[in-house]
Amino acid sequence: MTFEEFDLNRQLLNAIADAGYETPSPIQEQAIPLVMSGHDVLGIAQTGTGKTAAYLLPILMKIKYAQGMHPRVLILAPTRELVMQIDATITQLATYTDIRHVAIYGGLGPKTQIETIKAGVDILVATPGRFMDIYLKGELGVKELKTLVLDEADKMMDMGFMPQIRSILEVIPSKKRQNLLFSATFPPRVENLSHEFLEFPKKVEV
Ligand code: AMP
Repeated sequence: MTFEEFDLNRQLLNAIADAGYETPSPIQEQAIPLVMSGHDVLGIAQTGTGKTAAYLLPILMKIKYAQGMHPRVLILAPTRELVMQIDATITQLATYTDIRHVAIYGGLGPKTQIETIKAGVDILVATPGRFMDIYLKGELGVKELKTLVLDEADKMMDMGFMPQIRSILEVIPSKKRQNLLFSATFPPRVENLSHEFLEFPKKVEV
């Protein structure tokens, strides 16, 4: 199949062509239509399968353009490296849109990250700890969050981020939120998390 067969706009199709993606990968074929139709999705896929674009393309399609000051999408990932990698993929795929995105992670002082957030942001990509730090400083509006992604959920659990993830779930709106959970493996603890976090999820596996 081709990317044209999904209901993606011209801006995204042009960015996909620039990125050199010729055909959708198996996880993209399965996940893109489900995410676009608004389902909660549980994706079991390793890094290297194209899982990032599988959730990013429908998210970019859903939010379309810059709007308001507060983020509408939150993507949580376990490490600074993965956060930066996801953010770089957004830069690439959102290049023909005006969508604003910010990567926040520990290691650096939060000042610049806070200033960028305050200038207005549509998609926030964050490690759980740094997200909570900035939220607790009162510097983050979470009322507009309508989409939440947990990427590499198994690794986040291995690294002990579950308490922070629970706190985040408590402070962000739960009504009409679309939830996406991606994990390389599916041990019982990830299955438990999926029951807690996803509503009538569609499962895709590659
Ligand atoms: P990921 O699994 O999201 O870490 O993606 C792995 C790599 O595959 C990234 O470098 C992407 O740029 C690339 N990629 C994602 N989707 C496609 C595709 N449909 N065709 C070719 N490369 C892709």
